[in-house]
Amino acid sequence: MSLELSKKAAAVKPSSTLAITAKAKELKAQGKDVVGFGAGEPDFNTPENICEAAIKAIKDGFTKYTPASGTNELKAAISKKFKEFNGLDYDTDQIVISNGGKHSLTNIFTALINPGDEVIIPAPFWLSYPEIVKLAGGVPVIVTTTKEQNFKLTAEDLAAAVTDKTKALVLNTPNNPTGMLYTEEELRAIAKVAVEKDFYVVADEMYEMLVYGEQKHISIASLGKDIYDRTITCSGLAKSYAMTGWRIGYTGSSKEIAKMMGSVQSHQTSNPNSIAQKAAVEALTGPQDSVEKMHAEFDKRRKYMYKRICEMDLLDTLEPMGAFYVFVDGSAVLGKSYKGTKIESVPQMADILINEYNTAIVPCADFGFPDCFRLSYAISIEQIEKGLDRIEKFIGELA
Ligand code: PMP
Repeated sequence: MSLELSKKAAAVKPSSTLAITAKAKELKAQGKDVVGFGAGEPDFNTPENICEAAIKAIKDGFTKYTPASGTNELKAAISKKFKEFNGLDYDTDQIVISNGGKHSLTNIFTALINPGDEVIIPAPFWLSYPEIVKLAGGVPVIVTTTKEQNFKLTAEDLAAAVTDKTKALVLNTPNNPTGMLYTEEELRAIAKVAVEKDFYVVADEMYEMLVYGEQKHISIASLGKDIYDRTITCSGLAKSYAMTGWRIGYTGSSKEIAKMMGSVQSHQTSNPNSIAQKAAVEALTGPQDSVEKMHAEFDKRRKYMYKRICEMDLLDTLEPMGAFYVFVDGSAVLGKSYKGTKIESVPQMADILINEYNTAIVPCADFGFPDCFRLSYAISIEQIEKGLDRIEKFIGELA
């Protein structure tokens, strides 16, 4: 057929993280002893009380359409969580519940963007942002950060990237892939630029409950009325409650934007899954002890992985303070030889690791940092140890 397909859809890259996970799974299915550092989801099962709430929802016949933007019961639970956890006042009519955080972000950019509007995305970034922005008709503007800045966007670099087409900034804290957290001071400086130059802030706080050490998670919208008015705060249950498959994400925003996103969603997907919404109510309002247990386990793995990477030759990293990733600079590996072959890129290194060492890492070219890779610690400590031993062995074999 000669009919041209959508240019917009053709411009979207497939998710390389999902591709790596699929390759690791395929090798596992062939009986290989694979260590997959690609995991973008907790390795824990959804806590029992949450599963029970879902089973009850099914048995009670809570299996019909719900209001398009979510049930009032779940919105009330999210409103309370926003207040208590984030120090944010969002009434139920400012909240939209969607089929996962990705869907929430899709709604946000659909609501904000007119063709050609620019969205500033600091690199390294979670690889879906530019693609979601493009699908909404926007133009991603990548602002690259440096290790000296702890991979965080500065107010100066932000201001320099603003044009008269700038519609929004994507601000992700805790950050995927770097694990960095923005401080209050940094957020205040960014908020000042957003208010002065007049653009929206899309605050992706998906990993807000996975924060370690002394530093606290801060929501930019909590820093004053001016910035609150122009922020859309996005979060979800996937990472904090080990509920990736349930698909519940949500936003807090102005009523106007919430109404628009609700209308868009009503035509695209109707409502988020009714059973998952009941499960989410239990997650947010029920006992939190299993969340604390997962958090403690992640923290243990984080410390171990960070220490091991620091001890390895040729690899460099910063201590991650949130999420469940370690972001590693592999540039010193480039130019070295493995069994007579010169390593020219991190993806080439990743190929060697998966093919020769059964170890999957995530090269970060699609995260805007081609010389780096991401290791997830959402796998058991035994697996982490085994995988890091293999990476160390690989490094030792380089000439
Ligand atoms: N934001 C970030 C930074 C993420 O890493 C992810 C998931 N990888 C999401 C949003 C989307 O989460 P969900 O599974 O709820 O769609």
